[in-house]
Amino acid sequence: MATKEFRAESKRLLDLMVNSIYTNREIFLRELISNASDAIDKMYYRALTDENLEFNKDDYYIKIVSDTENRTLKVIDTGIGMTEEELEDNLGTIAKSGSLNFKKGNEPKDGYDIIGQFGVGFYSAFMVADQVTVISKSIDSDKAYKWESKGVDGYTIEPCEKDTVGTEITLKIKENTEEENYDEYLEQFRLTNIIKKYSDFIRYPIKMDITNSKLKEGSEDEYEEYTEEQTVNSMVPIWRKNKSELSDEDYHNFYSEKRYGFDKPVKYIHTKADGLVRYNAILFIPERIPFDYYTKEYEKGLELYSNGVLIMDKCSDLLPDYFSFVKGMVDSEDLSLNISREMLQQDRQLKLIAKNIKNKIKKELLSLLKDDRDKYEEFYKSFGRQLKYGAYSDFGRNKEDLQDLLMFYSSTEKKLVTLDEYISRMSEDQKYIYYATGESNERIEKLPQTEVVAEKGFEILYLSEDIDEFVIKMLTSYKEKEFKSVSSGDLGIEDDTNEENTDTEDNKELFEKMKTILSDKVKDIRVSKRLKSHPVCLTNDGEISIEMEKVLNSMPDNQNVKADKVLEINVNHDVFKSLKDAYEKDENKLALFTNLLYNQALLIEGIQIKDPVEFTNDICKLMK
Ligand code: ADP
Repeated sequence: MATKEFRAESKRLLDLMVNSIYTNREIFLRELISNASDAIDKMYYRALTDENLEFNKDDYYIKIVSDTENRTLKVIDTGIGMTEEELEDNLGTIAKSGSLNFKKGNEPKDGYDIIGQFGVGFYSAFMVADQVTVISKSIDSDKAYKWESKGVDGYTIEPCEKDTVGTEITLKIKENTEEENYDEYLEQFRLTNIIKKYSDFIRYPIKMDITNSKLKEGSEDEYEEYTEEQTVNSMVPIWRKNKSELSDEDYHNFYSEKRYGFDKPVKYIHTKADGLVRYNAILFIPERIPFDYYTKEYEKGLELYSNGVLIMDKCSDLLPDYFSFVKGMVDSEDLSLNISREMLQQDRQLKLIAKNIKNKIKKELLSLLKDDRDKYEEFYKSFGRQLKYGAYSDFGRNKEDLQDLLMFYSSTEKKLVTLDEYISRMSEDQKYIYYATGESNERIEKLPQTEVVAEKGFEILYLSEDIDEFVIKMLTSYKEKEFKSVSSGDLGIEDDTNEENTDTEDNKELFEKMKTILSDKVKDIRVSKRLKSHPVCLTNDGEISIEMEKVLNSMPDNQNVKADKVLEINVNHDVFKSLKDAYEKDENKLALFTNLLYNQALLIEGIQIKDPVEFTNDICKLMK
């Protein structure tokens, strides 16, 4: 029989598993049981909704069988099974299984990275086994198939015999090495411990033949061994338990078990409602960004159960887009089992649950912000962008919900601050919430435009992410305080320092001349009221700022947006005197100076100058 090769990515992961750099090997059992439980969920649901299938609750179980003599460990389930194609697709390729989707340039460096970013699923079996055999019969096929692999070299698939629908996985446990004891994965005591630790709440019985000893009948000191089948897990779903019975670890185990993520969540929310609609929910706020989060492939949603039966893997209607990072499940007795995806969207109960959940998440995030700032910032680093996106999209419809969760870097606090914190620090003579935009905090810090506002002692929010300014424009104000760009025309600051300030009117002819030199590059030239030590800067008229122009034009559907640029001149600067002098005496020099100043202003804004050669030639002219 021909051995088939694994896909390249699968091979790499397998290699890592076989050489198991990951020390927490025991999780292989959690992964296999979780797959088995998912498969039974599918079967259970099928049987409940398909009249032609017989339904017997006792038929659904997982069985673990260890055989120390032959060094095999079996995980048997009565789930939905796999067809030949499914064995091939699901176990031959990682990309298909959804657990690993390597992107070029984004490849994990070692096993920790892999487990951290993608989890390992089925392949984790190779951490403890040197051969894995999967015998499966699908509900949709009358034939059974055997998949077998010794690791990286490939796998085989052939027809085989199996009477009942379901899957049986046999691990040939590795021999002990000097460093590693693999025997423990065959020991009854160790196995039951692992199951209780990770899989206690699995809804189906996890059975094992447990051997114990008892006094021989009629004897007082002679013992005999006996074996009986026992259910190892308690089977009470964690969400049905009382919060007081559960520890942080239980929730974290549930998170891993369910493969919601491979990080440690920053927060979990266990909530129960008994009012208009009844439900239990466990929600998690992850710490780290899933590898595909900011791509189109990412699917948001919560698991949806109807009275304990999983009816949907990812119910997207339960979460608004801006909370798409939330993971977890909802179980409600008020939902019908047979409800279709289309009907769900219209379902009033579901809408009510979704609304409650949204409010709950918001409340919990606010309390995290208040009570554990460091953790919130950790979270915000990962998902702040999504919150901002939420505040901006849908024409700002959700801004009320989100504005208190937003944070921006502050010029005076030198860290992220909330809008509420900003206004609590505003002095009486400060009218606006000031902000400045640029590529990074370091660059914004040096922007000439910030000089006057900063000198006044007013706090400035530094907006360095491309979406930031769009969000601020959408919010327009916060608690009745308007946002104001440090580049805007009227800064609302009394000008008490620049008494010798001359008016734009006074320099009308000079500015007109400069405008013709710069032709259509700027809309206007004005005397600056915001510059102190710098000779020039660029600002804008109208709604589109220079930063927005940059962002919009870097997008795929570049619409060639243009900001109405204004060149502002500091008339108290020595350079202005030279400019005036040139205007009076030497037309060529005026053109040279004007172009140089304009290009300087562009550079400060972080905009490329059209003709760098001409610019350097101009500087040379100056030096000669
Ligand atoms: P994941 O579970 O993250 O998708 P795995 O590598 O663990 O990744 O499994 C790949 C796929 O193989 C599963 O999604 C499932 O479709 C299938 N599978 C694994 N184990 C079983 C099983 N015991 N019964 C039925 N299908 C299974």
